[in-house]
Amino acid sequence: MSEEKKVSMEVISAYAKRKGFIFPSSEIYGGFANSYSFGPYGVELKNNIKDIWWKMFVSRRSDIVGMDGPIILNPKLWDASGHTSGFNDALVDCKECKKRFRADHLVKELTGEDMEGELDKMTEALKDPKMKCPECGKSNWTDARHISMMFKTEMNGFEGSVYLRPETAGAIFMDYKNIIDSTRVKVPFGVAQIGKAFRNEIVARNFIFRIREFEQMEIEYFIDPEINWEPLFDNWLGEQKVFFNKIGVRDEDLRQFEHPKEKLSHYSKKTVDWEFDFSFGWGEISGLAHRGNFDLTQHSEHSNEKLEYFDAVNNKRYVPHVLEPTFGLDRMILISLISAYTEEELEDGTTRVVMKFPRAVAPVKIAVFPLLKNKPGLVEKAKEVFANLSQKYACEFDDNGNVGKRYRRQDEIGTPYCLTVDFDTLEKGTVTVRDRDTMKQEIIKVEEIDKFFIENL
Ligand SMILES: [Zn+2]
Repeated sequence: MSEEKKVSMEVISAYAKRKGFIFPSSEIYGGFANSYSFGPYGVELKNNIKDIWWKMFVSRRSDIVGMDGPIILNPKLWDASGHTSGFNDALVDCKECKKRFRADHLVKELTGEDMEGELDKMTEALKDPKMKCPECGKSNWTDARHISMMFKTEMNGFEGSVYLRPETAGAIFMDYKNIIDSTRVKVPFGVAQIGKAFRNEIVARNFIFRIREFEQMEIEYFIDPEINWEPLFDNWLGEQKVFFNKIGVRDEDLRQFEHPKEKLSHYSKKTVDWEFDFSFGWGEISGLAHRGNFDLTQHSEHSNEKLEYFDAVNNKRYVPHVLEPTFGLDRMILISLISAYTEEELEDGTTRVVMKFPRAVAPVKIAVFPLLKNKPGLVEKAKEVFANLSQKYACEFDDNGNVGKRYRRQDEIGTPYCLTVDFDTLEKGTVTVRDRDTMKQEIIKVEEIDKFFIENL
């Protein structure tokens, strides 16, 4: 996408609100902390994206099983995973206007240098009078300091704090043993999960790109530590790209970022992020990490449970390594909206806004219209067609306004087909089907409606 055509966050968020995809939450109370709700079309879009992901990575694979774990888990899990002590962000406050910033982001914006994790260095850098507050323009900073990104809460019957999970992966490791014992999975195998996670971000921004309550789609893929993992790793990167394409993302808007060796966690052999070309720059949307046996070993040590795997074929026992493909669901929704958003100049000089979602992604697949709303024969016939199609597809019935306006409304939510019941339906037994992308209309027989949509949806 060229620079000038890139859809800004302002345009996409206003559009998503106006058309019932995504609303700022708690709006009647003035909004709340960059939190959002998915509206009627947004929830369909979200469910479709989850469904495409689940079918691709769970249902259609014999080596991956699914699960759904709790949000509040035994806090010992977060001690073992290192989150309790190490899941921090660096923050700094402007003493003048009291605004809070991510210290590493701020320093990087102003100096170009990546000082992540180096508090003293950031504090020192901020003493330079050139380091001005983006909010008030003054230069008067507190020291940079760490703050935990975990949401803390309490639970009846439990002593001490518990946490809202900061990632979904932990719940998978908690059930690793149960899954091996209860199913016939054999290494290599994966466990997939879709669910909410919570991070107490210092600054939430860019619409649903950075929010504190979000959803992840994650897989832990367990492998034999002795195999050559590199082809598998590359294969996973390929699968991730296939998924992005399935939800409508173009190759030119994607790039990989491999974490430099010196910045990798000590246990990781390789980590690659997928980035999308947003209007604000390249932003991380997904990742793939080789995590070694760090997680299982840590949980084994902290729990005194053996988390080994017995390979009966080769008669050997080992703690598997994991490859971890992870996708931010909200970011998937965001990039599918941005990729679909199209403004087209029409021959009559007007502009049409159309969401060119892939068919599987579109919240509504077919809209059914009676040509006129005050002709009982037409309305009844259209309702009959709607009743039949809505058993199989997400459909919408619309008899409001002229047909041209109804087409435009459906274009704006990305409905691939509009079907109009007109006078020919009553006289000749035909209906008109209109294609979202070509805007071409096709006359088909009523008895061929099912066949048409089986072929086209
Ligand atoms: Zn300030």
